Amino acid sequence: MVVRKTCFISKYVYGNKIVDLDEYVVSLGTGCNLGCEYCYLKFSKVLGNPTVYENLDNITVELTNLFSLPKSVFYFNCGETTDSLLTDQHIHSLSKLISIISNLAENYEKKCFIELRTKTANLLKKNEKNLCKHSKNVKIIYTASLAPQNVVSEFEKHTATVQERLQSLSYAQQLGFLIGLRFEPIILYPVNGITYNDVISAVENLIANYEKLINSVVEKIETQKLHSITFSCLRLTRQQFRQLLQNRSKLCFYEMFLCPDKKYRYSRPIRTEIYSRLISLLRNCLGNEIVLKIFLATEFDYIWRDCGLVIKNLTSLSF
Ligand code: SF4
Repeated sequence: MVVRKTCFISKYVYGNKIVDLDEYVVSLGTGCNLGCEYCYLKFSKVLGNPTVYENLDNITVELTNLFSLPKSVFYFNCGETTDSLLTDQHIHSLSKLISIISNLAENYEKKCFIELRTKTANLLKKNEKNLCKHSKNVKIIYTASLAPQNVVSEFEKHTATVQERLQSLSYAQQLGFLIGLRFEPIILYPVNGITYNDVISAVENLIANYEKLINSVVEKIETQKLHSITFSCLRLTRQQFRQLLQNRSKLCFYEMFLCPDKKYRYSRPIRTEIYSRLISLLRNCLGNEIVLKIFLATEFDYIWRDCGLVIKNLTSLSF
């Protein structure tokens, strides 16, 4: 464990012209050894091994300052700088964080969502219950990153399988957590060729795979406990794109373009087609109301509009 020398909490920096979802990132630790091929952590200046910071108590001052703001609801994302449930130390630190936020939120009469985000099945494997202890001012959202198994097997080799993630989601709702589905990143794979028809058939395969995935999710979880659903297509920094291209990674697909936030993404028609079709799948399974819980993560406002979504943020959902 090491000491964190900078702030534990920072406002999520979404990038130029990206829709602001009103999240605060909490950095309990840094690094991750699950080795997803697209992970930005491999390209950042982080410590080699996963690390949890030992001076978490310092966060009290930061929270006190934050809760002095004229704002009643806060959304804390604990899965940006490491996987939230990677090790026992991560889980221990999370439970301490939940306790600190619970106490202060009560004192300052604030409401707080705390998002745990993971590609592990550690909640279930470790039969973890300590994360359930919190005040009525706090809601825990257990979120799993989800992708079809062919994508997980190819690009997220050391993570839990899709079935394990779904079982963990089901366990999390038994524990009383709200549930979040994070369809991120959506990867167009495989694209077997460079013609227009090759791309169209890759999109059709992707939709068919997500349809199966969504059906499995709907079978496993109680949808009334569903807090939010996010979609986000793969995005890569310039450095990542260059390096992955050099390594002939199957992630790099010729139809990727540099966007105003300096990230490479699939073209606007491809993203819009994917998101619109996935939203439509969810509407068919769960009814029109589900749209109120759907967000596009790190996307531009015109993409939201292309897909018929009204722009909103995560603190606007009922507590
Ligand atoms: S699980 Fe998340 S943090 Fe860990 S390597 Fe994969 S993308 Fe990165």
